[in-house]
Amino acid sequence: MTALPTSQVDRRQFAGWGLGILAVTPITFAGMLGCNKRNPPARIARYRIAGPSMNPTFWGCSRTLICQSCGVTIRVDEKLLQLAIEQASAVRHSSACWHCGTALAQTQLTAALKASALPPDVIDVSACVPTDLQDGDILLVEKHGIHVKRLLGKPGQTVSVDDSGRLLVDGRRPAFPSMPHVAVDRDRLRVSSRWQAVGEKATWQRRADRSWLAQGDSGWLAYKHQNVYRAAGPGRVLDDYPGNLGIERSLYPADGLSLRFQLSTPRSVEPTKVKVWVAYWTAQGIDVQHQTVVVHDAIDVAATTKPTSSAARERTASTMVPIDLLSPPQPIGVRLSSSAERRVEIRDLSVNRDVLYRINPTAPPIDVPASNRPPKYPFQLDGNEWFVVGDNVPLSIDSRSWGVVRTTDILGRVQSPYSDR
Ligand SMILES: [Zn+2]
Repeated sequence: MTALPTSQVDRRQFAGWGLGILAVTPITFAGMLGCNKRNPPARIARYRIAGPSMNPTFWGCSRTLICQSCGVTIRVDEKLLQLAIEQASAVRHSSACWHCGTALAQTQLTAALKASALPPDVIDVSACVPTDLQDGDILLVEKHGIHVKRLLGKPGQTVSVDDSGRLLVDGRRPAFPSMPHVAVDRDRLRVSSRWQAVGEKATWQRRADRSWLAQGDSGWLAYKHQNVYRAAGPGRVLDDYPGNLGIERSLYPADGLSLRFQLSTPRSVEPTKVKVWVAYWTAQGIDVQHQTVVVHDAIDVAATTKPTSSAARERTASTMVPIDLLSPPQPIGVRLSSSAERRVEIRDLSVNRDVLYRINPTAPPIDVPASNRPPKYPFQLDGNEWFVVGDNVPLSIDSRSWGVVRTTDILGRVQSPYSDR
């Protein structure tokens, strides 16, 4: 657990509560949408996102800045950028680049704030029927203002917390289709890659343009994570948020890793069959996935950790993955095998992690009425209660802080790529 050297604790509490109040501003009114009608009107209201509590899914008014050391683009909510500038001058601590750890100069932060803003996301919200709502839906709720939050717990479900502070719903970690992702590593931006070939038979070579080339059976290429806040030493992937500048918080080990890359077969005129294995270290064991793709030109490959039965996982892992390939600080391996010993090339290796829903470490202000105090875990939601959390888990003010929302507090469901069905 690592504390970012960015600010003071009292600042963080102030910032968190202040940022949570205004989550959206209405653009068009369609009357009261609501979520307690059997046949909701086919009305849609349009809102503009304000504040960072749903990053990285939705963004309020924001800026981008480019790390002058590694070149990664960092999108930052306007309010967090202002906070980072205040912190830099008040406590002489700079915010650091999440990707390489380099301190972001105050002059750069100030220049970014003066640059033209990225406009806030606009969302369409429709009326809904409570029984239609699914885990992971994004809701517009009214409680101390109007907010956009992710639905994690429904009536009748039990919300609890495990030993590491992660939220559980009916004993399981929240998981739903299209989990929101946070960036962990961008290989094309690294002069010195975190990926390395493992074993004598591995044929991987990294080229000057930062692509990787292999031939025939490539052997394993493994991702070794580094903690940029601890002198880039080896470490677990943590639940960092690239845009959360100007706040101090503890970071916790993250899982739910996923890998993306572009695969091609250079100088091959015929379609080539390529078998792709991706192996993950997870707390429950090694998770190996494989797929066969036919490459004509270039193809995008994505692989996400998916829990399989432990027996199947062990069987596959024992035959496929060398025993010392994966470990907590070296959590991903990739291996390719092409037909006819053809050359294969991968580029833009990108590691992401799922958003990880935890309890909120920030204590509420003392003047919060007793009815809006944080819940005491574990608790069961009654027939009228819903548990909602923002995707910017360390910053969002939500059911973890002001308790559950009632059915009548739900104004509608956000129509988005994450909740469209
Ligand atoms: Zn950087």
